[in-house]
Amino acid sequence: MKHRRVRVLMPLSVGELYDYRAPNDLNIEIGHFVTVPLGKREVTGVVWEEARGSDLAEERMKDILSILPCEKLPEESLRFIDWVAQYTMQRRGRVLRMAMSVPEALYPKTPRTGYQITDRVPERMTPARRRVLEIARESGVQTAADLSAIAGVSASVVKGLAGIGALRPVEMSPDTAMDAPDWRHAAFDLTADQQAAADSLATDVVERKFAVSLIDGVTGSGKTEVYFEALAACLREGRQALVLLPEIALTAQWLGRFEARFGARPVEWHSDLGQGERRRNWRDVIEGRAQIVVGARSALFLPFADLGLIVVDEEHETSFKQDEGVPYNARDMAVVRGKIGGLPVALASATPSLESLLNAQAGKYKHLKLPSRFGGALLPDVELIDLKQHRPGPQRWISEPLRQAMEVTLAEGRQVMLFLNRRGYAPLTLCDSCGHRLQCPNCSAWLVEHRLINRLQCHHCGYTAMMPKSCDECGAEDSFKPCGPGIERLSEEAANLFPDRKVAMMASDTLNSPRAAAEFVAAMDRGEIDILIGTQIVAKGYHFPNLTLVGVIDADLGLAGGDLRAAERTYQLLSQVTGRAGREAARGRVYLQSHLPEHPVIDAIVHQQGEAFFALEAAGRQDAGMPPYGRLAALILSGAKAESVATFATELARRAPTGDKLSILGPAPAPLSMIRGRHRYRFLVKCARGVNIQAIIGKWLQGRKIPNDIRLQIDIDPYNFM
Ligand code: ADP
Ligand code: ZN
Repeated sequence: MKHRRVRVLMPLSVGELYDYRAPNDLNIEIGHFVTVPLGKREVTGVVWEEARGSDLAEERMKDILSILPCEKLPEESLRFIDWVAQYTMQRRGRVLRMAMSVPEALYPKTPRTGYQITDRVPERMTPARRRVLEIARESGVQTAADLSAIAGVSASVVKGLAGIGALRPVEMSPDTAMDAPDWRHAAFDLTADQQAAADSLATDVVERKFAVSLIDGVTGSGKTEVYFEALAACLREGRQALVLLPEIALTAQWLGRFEARFGARPVEWHSDLGQGERRRNWRDVIEGRAQIVVGARSALFLPFADLGLIVVDEEHETSFKQDEGVPYNARDMAVVRGKIGGLPVALASATPSLESLLNAQAGKYKHLKLPSRFGGALLPDVELIDLKQHRPGPQRWISEPLRQAMEVTLAEGRQVMLFLNRRGYAPLTLCDSCGHRLQCPNCSAWLVEHRLINRLQCHHCGYTAMMPKSCDECGAEDSFKPCGPGIERLSEEAANLFPDRKVAMMASDTLNSPRAAAEFVAAMDRGEIDILIGTQIVAKGYHFPNLTLVGVIDADLGLAGGDLRAAERTYQLLSQVTGRAGREAARGRVYLQSHLPEHPVIDAIVHQQGEAFFALEAAGRQDAGMPPYGRLAALILSGAKAESVATFATELARRAPTGDKLSILGPAPAPLSMIRGRHRYRFLVKCARGVNIQAIIGKWLQGRKIPNDIRLQIDIDPYNFM
C-alpha cells in the first residue's frame, strides 16, 4: 500500500517544499512542527500540505521522524507566509524562518526547581539567612536564583538553607501565568468624535470581518485612547490583538499607558527581549495565552492562535519597511494578514501616508477623523525663520529669534526641544589645507565624527576609526575641521548660550531600548532636562506636558535627495516634531529655520494645511505615474568586484522586458555605489497599477544564472532608493 505523503517546508534560505512519508503511527496534520531527515542532517520543518500527485519512487521517500511537542502553526499563518513569499518574490523558507525565530520554543520548557519555606528554623541565623526566609515566606515558591537576587545575597546562602532543610525544593510549572489585561480596568469617557471612531472599530472586532480603518487625527487627539477601546472589545471577545509600533523605544511610554488602562502589561515582541522572554512570549502567542501583543514589525509573523485585530500605530513611518533579508512593508502586510484572517486592521497616524489617505478617500478604508486635540489644547503656532535674513554667526546654527524664544520659554520654567536630524558632531570632516574629505573605506559615504566617544563612524556599515593625526593626502598635521552640525555640536552651542541650563541629547544610538527610553521620559517629566536636543527619534509619539517650544534647526534637510517620498516624509516628520509642543494647557510654539520659505512643504507646515499639501503631492505622483498610482520594484545587484557587477547588469539589461505600461530605469550605479565593500547597481521597474510586476520580473529572471559572486536583491514597493 502506498503511504500518505505530505510536503514539508523548512526554515532555510534555500527552502522550498519537500515530500515526506507520514508514518501511520504519527497522526500527522497540516501545520505540525516536525523533524525530518535532510541529507545527513535532521531538520525541523512544518507540514505544509498534502503531497497530492507526488511521483517520487517509494524507495526514495523518507519518513517524518517526529512531531514536536508544540501547537500546530495555524492555517492563517501558513497562508500568510505563502502570500508574503509570493508577493516579495522570496523563498518561502526564508519567510517561514521569520515565523520560527525562536527554535527552542518548539520544545516545552523543562520544569524548574523552586524553593519553599519549611517549619525548620536554622540553628545559626544570619541576617542574610533571615532575609531569604522572609522573602520565601512572603512570596511562596521562588527559584534559587530569584531568591538570592531579591534578597541581595549570594546563591550559597539559599543552598545552605536548602541543605539544612529550612527550604524545600518543589517543581515549578514552566510557563508561569501572568496577569491578564482587563478591559474593564479604567476606561476614559470619550469625546463624541472619539466615541464614534471607537464604536466603529469595536463593531468590526465583534463582527469578525476584514475591514481597514484609518484613524486620522492630529497629534494629541486621542488616537491611542480610541484604539485602546478596540483592544478592549477584542479582550471582551476573548481574542488576541496585535499592536505594531515603529520604534521599540516608543514602547516605554506606551506600556505605561496600556497598564493604566488595562491593569496589566501586554506581551512584548522586539529585538531587546532576552532569550527566555522570547521563548515564553512566542509560546504564549501560539498557545493563545498572550492576549495583547505589542511589538516591532517582526511581530506580524508571530503564530497567533486566534488573532482578532491588528493596530498599526504611526502607520506612515518608513521604519515599517524592512530593506534587508525579506524586504516587506509591515503596514501593507498587516492589511494582507487581516484579509487572510478575516479580521479588522486599524492604521493610526496624525500624518497618514499618501497611500492610506488615498485609500480612505476612495472609500476602500474607513476614514475615522479626530479633528481636534483632546481637552481643547490648541495646535502650536508655527513661525518661519528665514535663514537668509537671520543668518546665525559663523559655526552657529541657532538664529537670534530662536535664541530669544528659548530664553523666554526657559524663564517661564518650560522645556525646549531642538530638532536636528543628524547624529554625531559633524556630518563631514575635511582637511583645512587640501580639502580632503574623510570617507569610509567600505562605503561611498563620509565618516561622521562622534566626539563624545572620540570616534569617526560610518552610518552605513558601522566602521569606526580614530581621528587621524595628519592628512593622508597632503600630510598636514591636526588639519581636520568639522563641517556642518550634528546634534553633539548643536548641544555645545546650546550649552554655550544657556550655561545654567541642563542640555540633553537623544538619538537612535542612545535611545535604543525601552529601558533607555523610559529613563529619558522620566528625566523629562521630572524636569531634569531644560533643553532637549534630538534626531527624528524624539519626534515620534512622545508626550511631554511641559514642553512648549520646539525649534527645527534645518527644516530643509530632508527635501533634497530626489527620493520619491522626500517631500511627504519631510512634511510628516516636521508635523510630528511640531506636534510635540504644547500638548497640554499651555500653547506651544514652533520655529522652523529654513532657507526655502516658499517651498510647498515648508509653507504647508507653517500654515498647517496638510490637505492642500497632500492634494498637490498626489497630483504630482499621478502625473509621474509613481506610487500609489503606479507600481515600483527595485533590483539591486551587488558584488565585491565592480566590473563583474557592471557586466552582469548590462547583460540583464539586454534581456529587459518591454511593454507600453512598463519602463525599466537603469542599470545605474546606486547613489550609495558601495556599501560594506560591495559595489552596487540598481534597476528600477515601473509599471501601471494593474500590472503584475512580480510576473514581469519573474519572466525576466527566468533561466538566468546569477553568477556566484553577485547577489541580486528584489525589493517590491521600495522605500529606499540609495
Ligand atoms: P494621539 O495618540 O492622537 O496623539 P493621545 O491618545 O496620546 O493622542 O491623547 C493625548 C492626551 O490626551 C493623552 O494624555 C490622553 O491620555 C489624553 N486623552 C485623550 N482622550 C482623552 C479622554 N477622552 N479622556 C481623558 N484623557 C484623554
Ligand atoms: Zn561604511
